[in-house]
Amino acid sequence: MARGADASVTGLPGVGPRVAAKLAARGITRLQDLWLHLPLRYEDRTAITPMRDLFPGGVAQAEGRIEAVERGFRYRPTLRVVLADGSGASLVLRFFHFRAAQVAQFQPGRRMRVYGTLRAGGQGLEIVHPSYRLLADDEDPALNDTLDPVYPAIEGVGPGVVVRLAAESLKQLPPADELELVPARMWPGLDLPGLREALLTMHRPAPGTSLVALSEGRHPAQRRLALEELLAHTLSLRRQRMQLQRHGATPLGGSGRLPAALLEVLPFALTAAQRRVFDQVRVDLGRGEPMLRLVQGDVGSGKTVVAALAAVMAVEAGAQVALVAPTELLAEQHLENFRGWLQPLGINVVWLAGKVAGRARREALAAMADGSAQVVVGTHALMQEGVAFAHLALCIVDEQHRFGVHQRLALRDKGRGGDSVPHQLVMTATPIPRTLAMTAYADLDVSVIDELPPGRTPVRTVAVSADRRDEVVERIRGACAQGRQAYWVCTLIEDSDEVMAQAAQSTFEQLGKALPELRVGLVHGRMKPREKQEVMRAFKAGELDLLVSTTVIEVGVDVPNASLMLIENAERLGLAQLHQLRGRVGRGAEASTCVLLYQAPLSALARDRLEVMRETSDGFRIAEKDLELRGPGELLGTRQTGLAQFRVADLARDCDMLPVVRDLADRLLEECPQVADAVVERWIGSAVRFAGA
Ligand code: ADP
Ligand code: MG
Repeated sequence: MARGADASVTGLPGVGPRVAAKLAARGITRLQDLWLHLPLRYEDRTAITPMRDLFPGGVAQAEGRIEAVERGFRYRPTLRVVLADGSGASLVLRFFHFRAAQVAQFQPGRRMRVYGTLRAGGQGLEIVHPSYRLLADDEDPALNDTLDPVYPAIEGVGPGVVVRLAAESLKQLPPADELELVPARMWPGLDLPGLREALLTMHRPAPGTSLVALSEGRHPAQRRLALEELLAHTLSLRRQRMQLQRHGATPLGGSGRLPAALLEVLPFALTAAQRRVFDQVRVDLGRGEPMLRLVQGDVGSGKTVVAALAAVMAVEAGAQVALVAPTELLAEQHLENFRGWLQPLGINVVWLAGKVAGRARREALAAMADGSAQVVVGTHALMQEGVAFAHLALCIVDEQHRFGVHQRLALRDKGRGGDSVPHQLVMTATPIPRTLAMTAYADLDVSVIDELPPGRTPVRTVAVSADRRDEVVERIRGACAQGRQAYWVCTLIEDSDEVMAQAAQSTFEQLGKALPELRVGLVHGRMKPREKQEVMRAFKAGELDLLVSTTVIEVGVDVPNASLMLIENAERLGLAQLHQLRGRVGRGAEASTCVLLYQAPLSALARDRLEVMRETSDGFRIAEKDLELRGPGELLGTRQTGLAQFRVADLARDCDMLPVVRDLADRLLEECPQVADAVVERWIGSAVRFAGA
């Protein structure tokens, strides 16, 4: 570990106990945590732009003399200060909040230096609330020689203090070779700076550094940091996996009698992809070390039956199985399937969810504890204290990203005995391109069910301008008159449950009026889980014709009779999310339609994206397209995928470096594990110690 990197921030001037506590709350305790507290953006005060070269939307520093000062009171008090610099143009400064003392300073003829974002105003370019400095006639302050960093806020520590602390910490940056953990000779194919240079560039970029490259995350300095961050992430996952695999596990290979019997009772034959994935699972389960496998498969690809086959292997070996889903509704659906498939084989399937209470709960817990519950299906209630198994040897987790690490570990620990831990099978419907999956899920073996069962009618997808909303409403009327069901998904750009809920509420009311003959239901994120479940249950049971919802309604809910889906503002959603939503229709034999309502006019990019949705229903192709087309800050968002949050790296943007990262990780773990530890410590530090393995 580089010297000094671990020194406490309390050694820096101005860091007393109060500031230290605020920093610690943000995970900043060591000098290197400050080095890696990277600016969000930059302000360029290294040059003065002549006013004739300013343009709307730009951010610039300008200098000039005050030509006029006007106060207005039309709607609210405003102050206009007109500056000119002799370049043939002028610039208006506009203030909506100001004090009398401020106004008194703005004397015509005085010199000012100003900085801000330009916009087109009524009388030429203007800056609203610029940052400014009044200059004496002979005063000519030096220009900055680096860009000014703007850091992410730290609660309780002023922005000026953060800038100063970052600068102080950088003074203690060790020489390049001491700081470097993974020197350039280890990644020869990439033309990137060393870590020291990269950090200095990020904290104080030299004039002329491309702000565009920086804001897009494509600057070599950022890529250098991203390389190491991705490496740290990969190493940490790999290390967790190695630790886990030091434990043993109960081998669950048997004669295959029960899996064969299950295949007999199934009303369908497995697809080739399901067979292949089950074969992989079967090999894992036969081993004396714990399986850690992710089964990735598009919605409707049939992951559940693969899980059921794994479950019966465990049952045949005399062990217990737990299957957990993130919501009661999904768990109930699994329960229904598992009971239908396994009870005919004489297997006891037990249910445990939060709402199971009283005697039913006591009985379920007793059956789990004495081993007579062979398969237990439930929600996170299974992960709670007081839940114990006689011999839990296989944990199956559906949509694991909706659970915290701790929950997953808590479940696993219920099967700990001696030196053995349960096998884990994790299922997800989030299609991630293979290149990303190997890094995102470096702690798991990944199997992909890349084929849908036969007989599905593909969902027809159409894009319709929101001007034609009335026609769409008629379409719903027609479909429901024929006994079909429909979803109406409300989306908004705001990520606030409250605003979304309001929008869904008013859409619900409008549609209720427009379609009085239909039974319309509503679900949104502000409802109590019980209310949500009830509405979903009613829809599933066919007691509602039309379900208005926000995007909260869950993926994986099977309502085969629902064959029409409308998605509002589809142009604003990411492709993966559209794909997930669309996966809720097309689950029955009936031909299904998905209508993507968009607000015209569409940008070229938005048009391309909707086109992808119309063209293909293959989740992996969509994920790959998404990667190609995605705009900044978009989609493969951590919220949907459960992938780690990074400081600098972005799996999609930086995917070209992933092969190098994997190779580096292999070599470090093999050749110098202590360097691997230091890389993880540097980037992830306490977070990893906390999660444990
Ligand atoms: P998901 O992968 O989204 O969890 P499910 O396991 O819920 O998908 O399967 C979706 C539907 O397809 C279920 O009704 C299931 O019974 C059915 N199914 C699964 N495998 C096959 C198959 N090989 N042939 C026909 N239907 C299948
Ligand atoms: Mg499922």
